[in-house]
Parts: sequence; C-alpha cells; structure tokens
Amino acid sequence: MSALSVQQLRARLRACGLRATLPRIAVLGQLTAAEGPRSHAELTDALTARGFDRATIYRNLMDLTDAGLVSRTDLGDHRWRFELKRASHAQDPCHPHFICEGCGSIACLPEASVELHAVRGAPRALRHKSVQVQVRGLCNGCA
Ligand SMILES: [Zn+2]
Ligand SMILES: [Zn+2]
Repeated sequence: MSALSVQQLRARLRACGLRATLPRIAVLGQLTAAEGPRSHAELTDALTARGFDRATIYRNLMDLTDAGLVSRTDLGDHRWRFELKRASHAQDPCHPHFICEGCGSIACLPEASVELHAVRGAPRALRHKSVQVQVRGLCNGCA
C-alpha cells in the first residue's frame, strides 16, 4: 500500500469528523504505510524522532479507533496492535495474520490465503467467523 499524501490523510480524518491535527496525521500516515498491525511501542519508536511523545501517540490512536478508522487487536501476546481498516478488508474484519517466529514481524494476509471450514464439532464462532486466524512461521527475510 503506497503512502497517502498529507492532503489525503487530512481528508480521511475530516470525513470521520476528526480534526486533522499534526500528531493525528502522523499516526494515521504510519498506519497507512504499514503492511500489518503495529503496536503503540512501534509507533512511538517511529514517531518520537518527529517530536511526538508516547502519550500523544496513544491518545491519537484511541481517537482513530473510536472514530472507526483503525481497529485494535490482541494477537495473543496481550499487546494491543492497531491497524488501518482498509476497504478491501471491510467484509472480512477477521482476515488472517502471519506472525514471523524469527523477527516477530506481523503482516496481514489476504482472506483467501486461509480457508475456515465450520465442520461438525467446531465452535459456532467459526461459522460466524468471529475468530482470529494467525499463521506462524518464518517470513521471507528470516527463512
Ligand atoms: Zn522474520
Ligand atoms: Zn491485518
């Protein structure tokens, strides 16, 4: 996904009723350019050089989440990760994620890469697709 211009980021924020403040544009820009979910700590690492502190970044992540632009997931390690809601994911909020056991990177996978079958004996949640699917292995860089 290519990065959006500041102009486009501003427009997205305003369309959701949010004021387009500098930290908000920066946080949304990071999530737009990311290829997978990012933790608050990762975003802080990326943005402190630009003069935004932890608390500011957190507050803006919450604002973006509340406004429905960003979704928040716990991928099993009890850390929240934030991810831009993309149009292509709209019908499938539970698209699978690939977690690298080497470097810990997390990437979104296309829905079609993993198929769920709600066979007899499987929990009902599977049929409703209200589950999180995680695939673990080594990414291209670590394999
Ligand atoms: Zn890796
Ligand atoms: Zn994802």
